[in-house]
Amino acid sequence: ADEGEQSLATVGLTKAFGGVAALDGATVSFRHGRVNALIGPNGSGKTTFFNCVTGMIRPDAGRTTYRGRDITARPPHRIARAGIGRSFQLCRVFPRMTVLDNLLVAVRPQNLLAQLAGARKREETERARYWLTRMGIDHLERAEARNLSWGQQKLLELAGVLMSEPELILLDEPAGGVNPALIDRICDLVRELNAEGRTFLIVEHNMDLVMSLSDHIVVFDRGRPIAEGPPSAIQSDERVLEAYLGV
Ligand code: ADP
Repeated sequence: ADEGEQSLATVGLTKAFGGVAALDGATVSFRHGRVNALIGPNGSGKTTFFNCVTGMIRPDAGRTTYRGRDITARPPHRIARAGIGRSFQLCRVFPRMTVLDNLLVAVRPQNLLAQLAGARKREETERARYWLTRMGIDHLERAEARNLSWGQQKLLELAGVLMSEPELILLDEPAGGVNPALIDRICDLVRELNAEGRTFLIVEHNMDLVMSLSDHIVVFDRGRPIAEGPPSAIQSDERVLEAYLGV
């Protein structure tokens, strides 16, 4: 895809839980090649947005497209196959599995692992080691995931996402609970991966990180976008301040 081409986009995305409109006709579009951020106060619908566009929950109304193709309410594995990867706020790794095995099962169901043909398995192991090295956790490949620090587990999860070679990567709170040194590492990685052609959409509460890392910010309030633009414009936008201050 060309830089600036449309990546992920939604029109009128709507989702209610009981009487609460978590998404209220959200129309938003993100461009290919950018580090995009989605911010907004607690309860503004960011997580629901991620869950809808990745097929984890079905919207009540509205459409989602990715590079112009309709992906509305497709199952998660099909959306992943279309080139979209995501991480989770609470970090999905298998705690009692080794770091390396976590990456091998990231690309296929666990019960098939034993059946992997030799050549294929070697190729995937090589790719897993490549990503572990990029994450700076290759020395931990034999450790059980639960013995890694929280930040290292986040890096492991990101490596797992990268195993399926996504073009668009959705990160849910990548810096949440992570120590400052590893936050810097995660930021560097996002910049590197973006320079290599991957598009990002990041939900993150750490505003310093959002402002320094993103090219484009969309602000949600009450289930829909209320402002968007580069960090410099968002920082001084009155609607954004009001949304956060609850005025
Ligand atoms: P954010 O990620 O911006 O904090 P969420 O998408 O988690 O916002 O939540 C948006 C609104 O939807 C909130 O009012 C929240 O309580 C509600 N909500 C989200 N998920 C559910 C759910 N599974 N069941 C009931 N209400 C939910």
